[in-house]
Amino acid sequence: MTQRHFDYLSIGAGSGGIASANRAAMRGAKAAVIEAKVVGGTCVNVGCVPKKVMWFGAHIAEAIKYSEAYGFNVEQKPFDWGRLVQSREAYIERIHGGYHRGFESNQVEFIEGFAKFVGPNTVEVNGEQITADHITIAVGGRPTIPNVPGAEYGIDSDGFFALTEQPKKAVVVGAGYIAVELAQVLGALGTDSHLLVRRDRPLRSFEPAIIDQLLERMKQDATVTLHTQSEVAKVEKQADGTLHVHTVSNEVITDVDCLVWAIGREPATDAINLEAAGVEADEWGYIRTDKYQNTNVKGIYAVGDITGEAELTPVAIKAGRQLAERLFNKDLPDAHMDYSLIPTIVFSHPPIGTVGLTEQEAIEKYGEAEVKVYNSSFAAMYNAVTPHRALSTFKLVCAGSDEKVVGMHGIGEGMDEILQGFAVAIKMGATKAQFDETVALHPTSAEEFVTMR
Ligand code: NDP
Repeated sequence: MTQRHFDYLSIGAGSGGIASANRAAMRGAKAAVIEAKVVGGTCVNVGCVPKKVMWFGAHIAEAIKYSEAYGFNVEQKPFDWGRLVQSREAYIERIHGGYHRGFESNQVEFIEGFAKFVGPNTVEVNGEQITADHITIAVGGRPTIPNVPGAEYGIDSDGFFALTEQPKKAVVVGAGYIAVELAQVLGALGTDSHLLVRRDRPLRSFEPAIIDQLLERMKQDATVTLHTQSEVAKVEKQADGTLHVHTVSNEVITDVDCLVWAIGREPATDAINLEAAGVEADEWGYIRTDKYQNTNVKGIYAVGDITGEAELTPVAIKAGRQLAERLFNKDLPDAHMDYSLIPTIVFSHPPIGTVGLTEQEAIEKYGEAEVKVYNSSFAAMYNAVTPHRALSTFKLVCAGSDEKVVGMHGIGEGMDEILQGFAVAIKMGATKAQFDETVALHPTSAEEFVTMR
């Protein structure tokens, strides 16, 4: 049996693994990544990237719907799902190419195969044993499927991205990012789309005022039918191949040709033989690390979704790069990811952006007397010109006598692009007065955030 040795090895070529291996190599390490599937992991292949392409498709569908007020008379031909999928997959292929070129220029070895630990610093892949001084586990997660009769008739988000034809009637089950995003994409593109949440609303951990507005916009757009208190009890397949989805409250949704489970994700750490390395996972399979991404075993690290911290691509990338800097850049021995104030976007219609604390979280942290909130609901000009005068809702949560901005939340057209710059200011500790001192950009939606009274 041959044996190769690397300074740095990442198990998994998703966002975290790729970023860390490239950075390690840039800092002079002999680095490799091992990947069992396709380069790019969840984000590029069955997550953020294909989702955003579908979201753009849905966005165009909405623009066509409301374009008449702008003087367009667009003939509504049948929407071509296959064409959108073709463009999306061609784009993803180009991203794969970019990754491989990146590995080549950084001299990172890409090894295709499924890696398993056979010792603390040794993995086996394709019958070969590979050793490394530093090994990062970055194997990511996979969708969870519920334990209800007939669950196997449904697909998960991976299955959604494998659809080559548009479903006629879809049920999306779940209440998180994925459920909301996929249900709205399907609905906007013309599928009869149903979102089933088991409690009173989706996205329950988000600022309630923002989700109120999401629900209002869903009602106005009428592209998604929301079913609340609707946990699925069973799924039955009919002779014609369609599904009956039964809820615990005895509702039955019939003629469903696509059922999507979007009830959360779980870490894919069960098959890589962590025991051989002595790496501990918690009862759900997450590998908990310290702030330096160290696991309980010296020389073995974990980054990304498997750590159970903010399961977001940019978090995995930053954590991976910081780890590589700490290990291979002598000028940054303390480099580590700061997990505070992470901004995030839900690609709903319109998008939701959020960073920092909700009003309730701020009250719990600072006390009610110390918290001041600012709200604004307004019709963005883009909508105000049309009969579709839908509202955007923005909210700032401030704390202390200096009204430091500790939370920013918004739903509205452009929110996905607005948040990033404000997140910088908030990370720097900006106060409400400093927001107000900044001259507004007019006419934009973003200016609402610096003119709130
Ligand atoms: P989430 O963990 O965000 O949400 C899943 C939700 O589904 C739960 O919170 C729960 O909400 C509900 N749920 C759980 N079990 C059931 C059940 N048996 N039946 C019905 N509903 C159930 O999961 P997602 O899969 O949406 O996303 C996973 C992660 O991926 C996210 O946390 C996010 O970090 C990341 N992501 C980020 C995106 C982005 O940045 N735009 C896009 C997509 C994913 P409740 O308790 O309210 O019922």
